[in-house]
Amino acid sequence: MGSRVFATILAIVGCVPSLDAHATVPGQRAARRQPRPAPAILEVPEATRLLVVAPHPDDEMLAAGGLMQRVLETGGTVRVVYLTDGDGYPEGVQAEDHVRAPTASDYRGYGRQRRREARAALAALGFGPSRYSYTFLSFPDGGLCRLTRTYWSERRAAYRSPYTRLDRPPKAEILVPDTEYRGEDLTQELAQIIGEFRPTLILVPRQEDQHADHCAAWFFVADALTDVRRVHPDYGVDLLNYIVHFNAWPFEDEELRLVPPPGLRGGASGWMRFPLTPTELKTKRGALRRYQSQQHAMDWFLDGFARSNELFSRPADTRVVLPSRRNLCCDR
Ligand SMILES: [Zn+2]
Repeated sequence: MGSRVFATILAIVGCVPSLDAHATVPGQRAARRQPRPAPAILEVPEATRLLVVAPHPDDEMLAAGGLMQRVLETGGTVRVVYLTDGDGYPEGVQAEDHVRAPTASDYRGYGRQRRREARAALAALGFGPSRYSYTFLSFPDGGLCRLTRTYWSERRAAYRSPYTRLDRPPKAEILVPDTEYRGEDLTQELAQIIGEFRPTLILVPRQEDQHADHCAAWFFVADALTDVRRVHPDYGVDLLNYIVHFNAWPFEDEELRLVPPPGLRGGASGWMRFPLTPTELKTKRGALRRYQSQQHAMDWFLDGFARSNELFSRPADTRVVLPSRRNLCCDR
């Protein structure tokens, strides 16, 4: 989850008309009754090596808190890579720190808090640290889309976060020497993680996700995979997409089951359901509660993803060209 679409979602949810059968013409009612094709069930092979790419701390749990548990339960390994610390969220910092005009120091402190929450959330899945790991890349929250073109290479100064005032990750978080807030640096760090961990399954947001950081995450992962395959031509991986931000989905629907977002097709595979056991759902809810700063700011949003299943799809094509000729994803 990220901050920029928060107000938009609130506005959209507020505008959702109540379902009133008397206001619906018969043709529309019939159309609504048309059964959708049931999504296929996603199966998880034993000993899966799962890499979850999360633009912000909490996205991994919203999208795949159940799937991560299943991978660990069936002898697999999970690694989560957080692209940003989720620190570019003025309303969140204001609420958490009780300050009207947060400083760069406040934003950095908020990022550290979200990292602590992420570690606690992963621990709440109930598996020892030998079974899972995580990496914080600490790229700029709210700035990833600008890195797909304008701030791609050393031809110009690195992007500087308007929140933390940083233009590079903290030293402790840098994987590739001299990494700064540039697109090619993010691609290189992701390629290094993929090349070393060799996941058999990667989860990454769909490019249709309406949050700019989520959309950009797709392009960076696809670009990194191209780099990895250049060095390891035989490397194969199952690439799955998840989505967190799409209009008012899934808040119009109060059922326990998570249904696909209206108007969004399920990619090359069609939508795939991943059903959670009652225990997995309970554990996912407990892990989401560890994101206390986000619970304070938008508990209703986190609750929207604590359902009896998760949803994924496979992309039709993974070929991308970066740097792009335009700032991908920025107009969202
Ligand atoms: Zn997010």
